[in-house]
Amino acid sequence: MAIIRCPACDRRISSKAQSCQYCHEPQVKLTEAERERMLLRRWRDQLYRARNATYLAMTVVVVGMIWWWLAEPQGLALPIPMTPSVLLGIGVVGYVCAWVWLGWLRFYRKPGRA
Ligand SMILES: [Zn+2]
Repeated sequence: MAIIRCPACDRRISSKAQSCQYCHEPQVKLTEAERERMLLRRWRDQLYRARNATYLAMTVVVVGMIWWWLAEPQGLALPIPMTPSVLLGIGVVGYVCAWVWLGWLRFYRKPGRA
């Protein structure tokens, strides 16, 4: 008996199981090639989501900058007003987190590696 990852939910299950004990995805009909393809598709979806998160975070930073620029007194004057500083904080932290997520997916979760 080997431990494999469920292609649907990615949790560890027995290779002998008829279906995943967590998400009840049937396992028997899948060949090794189909399983690999499903894992690869899942991984690509996650990469896509992580990349979207970096764009979203970048957008939040840009909106924060524009807000800061337009707020009185005009032109990125200090101190940063409340709303833009919150947006910039969330955006920068979110951006860093999204890149860490992206890097983790690329280097540790790439299918085909044990
Ligand atoms: Zn499952």
